[in-house]
Amino acid sequence: MTEARQRGCYWWADAPPRRIEEASWSGHTEIAIIGCGFAGLSAAIYLARAGRKVTIFEKEAIGFGASTRNGGITSGNIRYSHAQLARRFGTEKATAFIDEAVAARAALASFIRDEKINCNFQPSGRMVGISREFDKAAIEAENTAFQQRYDISPQFIDAADLPGYISTSSYKAGIYRPDIGGIHPAKLLHEKVRLARAAGVTIYSECPVTRIYRTGAEFILETANGQVKSDHLVSASNGYTDKAQPWLRRRLVPVISEIIVTEKLGANFVKSLMPKLSMFGEDKEVGFYYRPTPDGERILLGGRRMHKQDAIAQMRLHEGLAAIFPELGGAKIDHYWAGNVVFPFDQLPKLAVHDGIIYPTGFCGSGTVWAHWLGRKAAAIILAKDSAGQTDDPASPASNFAQMPMRTMPFYTGGPWFMPLAMSYYRMRDKLAAGRY
Ligand SMILES: Cc1cc2nc3c(=O)[nH]c(=O)nc-3n(C[C@H](O)[C@H](O)[C@H](O)COP(=O)(O)OP(=O)(O)OC[C@H]3O[C@@H](n4cnc5c(N)ncnc54)[C@H](O)[C@@H]3O)c2cc1C
Repeated sequence: MTEARQRGCYWWADAPPRRIEEASWSGHTEIAIIGCGFAGLSAAIYLARAGRKVTIFEKEAIGFGASTRNGGITSGNIRYSHAQLARRFGTEKATAFIDEAVAARAALASFIRDEKINCNFQPSGRMVGISREFDKAAIEAENTAFQQRYDISPQFIDAADLPGYISTSSYKAGIYRPDIGGIHPAKLLHEKVRLARAAGVTIYSECPVTRIYRTGAEFILETANGQVKSDHLVSASNGYTDKAQPWLRRRLVPVISEIIVTEKLGANFVKSLMPKLSMFGEDKEVGFYYRPTPDGERILLGGRRMHKQDAIAQMRLHEGLAAIFPELGGAKIDHYWAGNVVFPFDQLPKLAVHDGIIYPTGFCGSGTVWAHWLGRKAAAIILAKDSAGQTDDPASPASNFAQMPMRTMPFYTGGPWFMPLAMSYYRMRDKLAAGRY
């Protein structure tokens, strides 16, 4: 482990992973949840507030998973455009997917506001930098349609207007979305833990679930603390899914995402690079995401893992940062860390149900919004089932991402041997696309 990695996750300095000591152990719970990240906690909060007995089992300390390690950009992305979705699913379903993404983003923002959550929420928008060939008229038509349907106005940013958003020569243009922002993810996670516990949720930390089976309608969970029986089971282990869940592991491709944070650059300097202090992404297959830290003093940049060795991986991220902002080539990097994201084979989020287990999963690197939303939808499935469909929970009806097949491929057991090949392929596509411009 390099010195860089030991300096670790920037967010953990304010809100580190921690143990929770529960006073007692019960061998039965109405609803068991595996994993104490955004998804598991969302499900737990809604179920406990509906009067259910809920227990979360977390393998590590609370706040260990992707939910506290991420870039904190509330993107709620779907990896495909409306046109691409329409080709696969038809126009109506494509529109329903996008509708749901808009609703999911708004739900997270209102959750943060309504629950008065202290997580440095910055509704400062996100700009995607365009470096590929583009069709301005098509983008503007799409923006207008979006505005008409959702009353949200994405803006096409011409090269001449880019300096109002970012000081770089890396992009030919940009698309700015005002409904996306930034959060401090570790603070959000621990605030959700606070709400869950206030609602009566029991949380066992450092308590891995090691085996799951059923006797009739009941689930039996073997855990490090002993056996537990439950009426319902939600699995929210996502990028950290282990061998206790072979069905899920066969259907998820884990990918390492990693992040650097610069030294303190000074608020004025950061503002000169990012005048709106907004969030940023890129239109590449393997692009970077980046943002100012909530105090406006540093810049955080992340991307897919680019080398097995931490020191080289960190250097590649720094090179990426310097390609966008040459002024930062000599900046010190104070933090570097990595975490797991997961992709289903079709690269669309899922709310799967298999053998009675509910899986909010496969958020494709955009789980800040999706984990919150689909965790809540998982709760809605249970509430609807127990009340024979009669529920006034606002998360009903079920998600458009429910009842979609979760495919695997022959001989795949969760070790993505093909990822280096896939990454090389995507990088080559990026190079070709950049050359075409
Ligand atoms: C570096 C990085 C950057 C990212 N940036 C962004 C971003 O900017 N915007 C965005 O929207 N998304 C981002 N993401 C993705 C986002 O963080 C995740 O999609 C989201 O946090 C997933 O939440 P979750 O609750 O499903 O899983 P997690 O938060 O990973 O929680 C799963 C938990 O399950 C536990 N677990 C696993 N197996 C067991 C078991 N057998 N028993 C008990 N517990 C178990 C794990 O220990 C873990 O704590 C990023 C992810 C990473 C890693």
